[in-house]
Amino acid sequence: SNAQSLTQLFALDSLLEQEEIDIRDTVRKFGNERIRPHVAQWFEEAKLPARELAKELGQLGVLGMHLDGYGCAGMSATAYGLACLELEAVDSGIRSLVSVQGSLAMFSIHHWGSEEQKQEWLPRMAAGEAIGCFGLTEPDFGSNPAGMRTNAKRDGDDWILNGTKMWITNGSIADVAVVWAQTDLEEGAKGIRGFVVPTDTPGFSAPEIHSKMSLRASVTSELILDGVRLPSSAMMPKAEGLRGPLTSLGEARFGIVFGAIGAARDCLETAVEYSQSREVFDKPLAGYQLTQAKIADMALEVGKGHLLAYHLGRIKDRGEIAPEQVSLGKLNNVREAIAIARECRTILGANGITLEYPVIRHANNLESVLTYEGTSEVHQLTIGKALTGEAAFR
Ligand code: FAD
Repeated sequence: SNAQSLTQLFALDSLLEQEEIDIRDTVRKFGNERIRPHVAQWFEEAKLPARELAKELGQLGVLGMHLDGYGCAGMSATAYGLACLELEAVDSGIRSLVSVQGSLAMFSIHHWGSEEQKQEWLPRMAAGEAIGCFGLTEPDFGSNPAGMRTNAKRDGDDWILNGTKMWITNGSIADVAVVWAQTDLEEGAKGIRGFVVPTDTPGFSAPEIHSKMSLRASVTSELILDGVRLPSSAMMPKAEGLRGPLTSLGEARFGIVFGAIGAARDCLETAVEYSQSREVFDKPLAGYQLTQAKIADMALEVGKGHLLAYHLGRIKDRGEIAPEQVSLGKLNNVREAIAIARECRTILGANGITLEYPVIRHANNLESVLTYEGTSEVHQLTIGKALTGEAAFR
């Protein structure tokens, strides 16, 4: 057919450097060849060959790819975003594995850790030989982590950690957990510190959470810390208070601004292709005005989502991005992506409800993406505060 792709229609590549296009294409090829043929089955069985995949993602160079040194690729934020976009075009669960490894666990150690912690973990994590997780959320504290109950108490020079973390990506498969806990080093939320916890430490366990209807190709776990004894050197020296975990979350959230648009693009491409071959009332579904109105409106949002992501990427690459700007991207792109996934499902009719097509898998995955890394409501409050000067969180 003489149809154009969305990338052509929006002239999206004209906004990227050749090196960025090359990285994008390499990750897209990996996703399509290595992951796409299997991912529906992984989703259905809720089984991910995470160890194997982590090594391959390490070889691809995407684990901690925007960090410098310690075996990391040192790429731009925009290049990292593009990699997230291509991985999430295949499945949000795979992008989650990469986000948590690179942006939450590795970034935390890189940014807040001691030289010894960096040397010990980062090269192995960049290679995918060690898997990391990031434990902030608790059963009773999600949007308001300041209330966390997990605590670290001194016993001589050691730290003893007690508490429970919930909804932790990679938890059961992790070699190392970055765990945030309340200490009495300072009062209130200022006392929160981050600990680098090898998961084979006695008292640490991570039971997997089952029966998820979303992100099934991703491991989600509880972390139980029952008198976990750590040496004094386990505390990350440079993070004080909630600024530590919140900065790390901002890194992963930036990747989601791009990633969500990947999922939306994949749904739209699937729906357009389907509409071209599916005949209803004696002609292709694509030839009906109602279908074209849906496709045109969705294309506008996918295109605008790319523009917003690229714009935020450039701001981040200049080192100027503010948290509320990342909120703009996360709120918009995830909200639009889930709406697009559902609209595309209508175009596929009954075929849209099975795993034969990626659309309902993306739609279900995006339910998690809407909630983690700051819910849509929390980002509305963040943007509202930026524009009005009034904090309405409590
Ligand atoms: P709550 O905070 O209880 O929110 C419930 C509802 O209340 C939401 O709609 C919320 O927007 C709304 N709400 C909250 N506060 C306000 C307010 N002030 N005003 C109005 N409405 C409000 N956490 C980690 O630490 N590490 C991970 O690796 C991780 N991975 C995850 C993977 C998955 C698949 C999922 C689903 C979650 C993961 N999370 C992880 C947890 C995630 O960050 C939390 O679920 C999220 O922060 C929301 O917290 P909550 O689920 O407790 O919801």
